[in-house]
Amino acid sequence: MSETTLEGGARDHIAPLPIRVRRVYNESMDSYIRRLASANGVTAVDVGRWLRESAILPRELSKATWYAAWARLGDLPPKSLPGDPGPGVDRALCRRCSHGQRVEGRMPAWGLICLRHGCWIDPADGSSMRQTELRAERAFRRTLSSSGLHMESPGLQFALRLASLAVSPDWLDARTHRHGFRSLRASLFPAQVRIAADLFRHDELAALRSTEPGRRLESCERWLACRIAGLGERDEPWRAAGILSALLQHLEDRTVVVELEEILYRFAR
Ligand SMILES: [Zn+2]
Repeated sequence: MSETTLEGGARDHIAPLPIRVRRVYNESMDSYIRRLASANGVTAVDVGRWLRESAILPRELSKATWYAAWARLGDLPPKSLPGDPGPGVDRALCRRCSHGQRVEGRMPAWGLICLRHGCWIDPADGSSMRQTELRAERAFRRTLSSSGLHMESPGLQFALRLASLAVSPDWLDARTHRHGFRSLRASLFPAQVRIAADLFRHDELAALRSTEPGRRLESCERWLACRIAGLGERDEPWRAAGILSALLQHLEDRTVVVELEEILYRFAR
């Protein structure tokens, strides 16, 4: 993206807003625009309307032109504009990395934890951190995000669904009280990563699929029990075995990971 996306000399007619805001590393442009507008006591909608009514910007404009206009309003160097944001969705960035500000952006390579600060990226996930969770974050980056998977990938969502069924609800409740507040997804994160990491190992999946159909449910339950072992005192893997067994039935002879992702997408919902 460059300032050439501002057509008809628009660049010359747009003066930077009086209060500048620094864009945080990995911050999405939408998040930056929200903060810049708020710091100047205006809304992005009002500024957009004024720019259109003044014929500085066309009525119909592309996202690139909109961002370029705001880069000018924030006096950002054109080279600092974000390119392709990558897969996943925008979410809150680590508050400490963002110097205490509420900033959103895309971090597909990160799980739920900022390893630099040893804290949950989203403060709503929890206030304390345990070694099990830090290990899960490292495992996520080492084995899953390095393979192009991210927290919103169907595989990760499917693993979360399995974990939420396999781990006892009583244990989850007890855990909330014992370790201070934490969200359900934070409590399940270690189980989710362990299940997803093994689900994408061809040998693990092949071994599960080679079980004869009559004993598949039982082997799925055993497999899940191993993945969540040590995470809770009262596991209930049988509750998740059915859906895993159904997935295996569906896979039949397919071995390509891309296809697996597509199938998982349907199962994750
Ligand atoms: Zn951080």
